[in-house]
Amino acid sequence: MQRTDFSAMSRLSADIDLAAEGKATGFLRVPHSVHRSAYGWIPIPIVRLKNGQGPSVLMVAGTHGDEWEGQIGLGKLIRSLQPTDITGRLVILPSANFPAALEGKRTSPIDEGNLNRLYPGSADGTITEQIAYWIEHALLPGFDYAFDFHSGGSSLTYIPSALAPRPDDAARLRKIVGLLKAFGAPISYIAAAPQGGGRTFTSAAARQGVLAMGTELGGGGLVTPASIKVAEDGMRRVLAHVGLLHGAVPAPSPTRLTEIGGDDYYVYASDGGLFEPLVDLGAEVKAGQPAARIHFHHTPWREPDLLAFKRDGLVLCKRVPARCERGDCLFHLATDVSG
Ligand SMILES: [Zn+2]
Repeated sequence: MQRTDFSAMSRLSADIDLAAEGKATGFLRVPHSVHRSAYGWIPIPIVRLKNGQGPSVLMVAGTHGDEWEGQIGLGKLIRSLQPTDITGRLVILPSANFPAALEGKRTSPIDEGNLNRLYPGSADGTITEQIAYWIEHALLPGFDYAFDFHSGGSSLTYIPSALAPRPDDAARLRKIVGLLKAFGAPISYIAAAPQGGGRTFTSAAARQGVLAMGTELGGGGLVTPASIKVAEDGMRRVLAHVGLLHGAVPAPSPTRLTEIGGDDYYVYASDGGLFEPLVDLGAEVKAGQPAARIHFHHTPWREPDLLAFKRDGLVLCKRVPARCERGDCLFHLATDVSG
């Protein structure tokens, strides 16, 4: 049977060999012909470390340009690791949607593309679709593990968390729980289904047979000493856990294993206005408990909308900006895994 080489159809190419031995730093080149640069390309930083045969691990951050913890954490890892520290192969793509990262935005300023909603991408698509296509078809195949470091970005903030979608079989679930426990974020969660309907990095990894774990490390468009510590320590612990990194690693850190289900875990803005949260991150809430008021600044004599939580749970994620539109996510909950 003839197999199609999808990677050959991509216009993108890395200027370093991603399979060779040793450490190399370089760029994924995204051809982009614009007024100031007729034959130019967008340089997306990429790094490879390889030392003999062992696990093959991909670490990605900056899928959303305004999520900084992973981008800073991976930069620290790049500067500190040498091939002799590992056995196997580690490829790091610290700012996957680099144009978005340069602007500090979730989406690309070139095409408004949300990289985590565009997989499997398109070889002939927009810039962001071409990046997605290259990641799914040229980069991901052949890795054993893929880690995708997100945070809440500009509009949300999380208790630093690690997450994975619920797999079909028990053996895979055990492996994923092993990764979540090794990462050691304060919270870990299993999501009922991947967000984005098969268009996320996690879905792309699953299609390519790569075991994937994600994070939500904080957010609010900023970093804190605590969120960076969760990122840095967790990255080293999972690399040791999969057998890639040797030597001293940070001490294990306990995680609370939770899950996220359907719509009743979320609170959305009922109208445009000003969001007044009535609880904070980490609160344990009950079904029916007031969650937020939406104030109407055009008509301040109008009574605010009062929104309630639909179920019991832990407040894992909260909206950051006060201004909101109808349909904006204000909170989501997590619940402890039973049994
Ligand atoms: Zn994200």
